[in-house]
Amino acid sequence: MRPKGKPGVVPHCDRGHGAMKLVEIKIPQIVIESQDSYRAFQCPDESCGRIYTLLGGYHELRKDSGLSSHGPLDPYCKEHKYWMSVRETLPESLKYVCPLEGCSAAQEVKLDSKDS
Ligand SMILES: [Zn+2]
Ligand SMILES: [Zn+2]
Repeated sequence: MRPKGKPGVVPHCDRGHGAMKLVEIKIPQIVIESQDSYRAFQCPDESCGRIYTLLGGYHELRKDSGLSSHGPLDPYCKEHKYWMSVRETLPESLKYVCPLEGCSAAQEVKLDSKDS
């Protein structure tokens, strides 16, 4: 079954760069449902390279080695086992929410406590 995301929600970059852009992306290391490209959100700051997908959460897209792994501190929804997306970028913290429709799980993470 295909997971249903919250309608109209645009994730923010988890490095504090604001709202991400919806892109169609191709990643050689990942094939989802036998499609070789799929929708992802990309950080507006090109030097950042962060992307977010509903199924994979936040990753760093590197030209040479593909995707980085998750930071150990990335919050996820304990009920749905989905990586949370940043709903709001605050001056000193990020507000994460579960990306699935109808779920109200949320968590706030200080920007300083994230690896950079
Ligand atoms: Zn960014
Ligand atoms: Zn949830």
